[in-house]
Amino acid sequence: MKVELHCHLDGSLNIDFVQELLKEQGIVYEREELRKKLEVVSECTSLTEYLEKFELPLRCLQTKGGLRRAAYELVRDVSKEDVRYIEVRFAPMLSTENGLSCREVIASVVEGLKAGEREYGVFASAIVCAMRHHSLEQNMQMLVEAREFIGNGVCALDLAGDESAFPTNLFRRLFVQAKDWGIPFTIHSGECGSVDNIREAIILGAKRLGHGIALEKSLELRKLCKEKGIGIEMCPTSNLQTKAVSSLEKYPLEQFLNEGLLVSIHTDNRTVSGTTMEKEEKLVKEGLQISEEMLLQCTRNAIQTAFASNEIKEELMRRI
Ligand SMILES: [Zn+2]
Repeated sequence: MKVELHCHLDGSLNIDFVQELLKEQGIVYEREELRKKLEVVSECTSLTEYLEKFELPLRCLQTKGGLRRAAYELVRDVSKEDVRYIEVRFAPMLSTENGLSCREVIASVVEGLKAGEREYGVFASAIVCAMRHHSLEQNMQMLVEAREFIGNGVCALDLAGDESAFPTNLFRRLFVQAKDWGIPFTIHSGECGSVDNIREAIILGAKRLGHGIALEKSLELRKLCKEKGIGIEMCPTSNLQTKAVSSLEKYPLEQFLNEGLLVSIHTDNRTVSGTTMEKEEKLVKEGLQISEEMLLQCTRNAIQTAFASNEIKEELMRRI
């Protein structure tokens, strides 16, 4: 059984779905050609370049039907590799280009996830992403809209986008507000080497860190994460592609696990990174000699740090 906590909807769209929706817009690609367009190449040099891969997928997420179907099909696709719990993240404001309201966007994704949950027996909920290149006002507006879905399809808030260009301290007010409203959050932190962004996320009260690679530079912050029980969502393939780490040998997964951090493994972007949970587990097993027991620990850590009720967590623990 697998548990996935860090998976972006726009980066994980089914290729057939993208092909079909682009065709409706008069954009025709042969399937293999489209796959190459969507998937990042191994010569990708940075996170900035990686983020350019999201333009075509976002064109398919501008209607209620497109959003609903994308969410539903993602749940269907992950159920095939025995993912039994998934938190799907997406940035509502990026789907308002053709006139949908932020509320309609969130409602559509939640509907799709719930339909997938019923059909495929996968617990599924949404994390709404604020974007680093959006203004604080825009992100605050999104949070206001998302608030009413908390506990009813939306489980948490995240901050995504270009971490090197827009540091986390620009978004303090957003997270202070979220905390005030009792909305839990994870923050993409330390993907581009910034220890400061990790420190900021911890101070703000993040329950989890996305990637957290820069933690390897700070024993002090690793101790703090352990003390506070902060989850570390690691995404090996994506981290190699964006050059968050220079090589697999230098990937700090085993070190973090040995130090007792609540590390877990995820895909980040199934389509853009050309990966699945199975591939991620295989990569760390074969490339890093991570044992079965350590992988099991990652699953337990994921359950422990999931934005889910205790009932769901207990149910998942029983299924391991
Ligand atoms: Zn991510």
